[in-house]
Amino acid sequence: MDGENDHINKEKVVVKVGSSTLSFPNGRINLQRIEQLAEVLSRIQHSGVQLILVSSGAMAVGGGLLGMKKKPETLAGKQALAAVGQAELMKIYQRFFEPYHQTLAQVLLTKDGLQEEIKRTNARNTLQRLFEMGIIPVINENDTVSTFGIRFGNNDVLAAYVAELAEADLVIILSDINGLYTADPRQDPEARLIETVTALSPEILQSAQGSGNSFGTGGMSVKLDAARICMDAGIEMIITNGKDPGIIPEILEGKTVGTRFVRQKKME
Ligand code: GLU
Repeated sequence: MDGENDHINKEKVVVKVGSSTLSFPNGRINLQRIEQLAEVLSRIQHSGVQLILVSSGAMAVGGGLLGMKKKPETLAGKQALAAVGQAELMKIYQRFFEPYHQTLAQVLLTKDGLQEEIKRTNARNTLQRLFEMGIIPVINENDTVSTFGIRFGNNDVLAAYVAELAEADLVIILSDINGLYTADPRQDPEARLIETVTALSPEILQSAQGSGNSFGTGGMSVKLDAARICMDAGIEMIITNGKDPGIIPEILEGKTVGTRFVRQKKME
């Protein structure tokens, strides 16, 4: 272990999983991966780290449940699909966390709601109480009242806002790509993984343009929006490949993976 992340405090950690991590490219849900996630996250939570899971996948699971071959065209159709899928998604999570005696809570939020003081306080109090009870909140956008997530795949940004609200130390974004590259690695053999980002310079923003992931609704530029929120809030963020959830405990033990966005000094 190279210990590069050793100095990052990791008492409260947000893990964000996208639809591309939870499902196969054909849209079917990857139950084995969810099982691995449940095992790993339960173990981490039991070791005393406070976890928040921000999970997309409502539409993907809804599509599978209703036997749909492709997403509905209309926004309302997508919202209805997410409403069906969210209940099923929680059922799947509960089934896989149950053997580890890990209780979950469903928390549906909207980014604009998190800007309002009263709603922020309510959400913060709920999360705090859940932490005290040893329960992992599973957060998704409330797609019935907000369509940002469905349209822009903005759960990365939601994860950043949640981390800020909960005063988390670290956000781990599990993606279908290893991190931020200098160019799209699927098209450019010269593309290099950027290991550390200390400032969102024009070059870094430019790299994200061509290196969006293909399966999730979000791309790399949305991830950089999330990185900006985290860095400004004094929170570290790491983007890494979610194909092996075993990477999460390794990160917490100090291993350097993917792209790390270094927090700016917290202003007290
Ligand atoms: N909230 C939507 C879902 O769970 C998608 C959000 C996203 O892809 O980031 O399906």
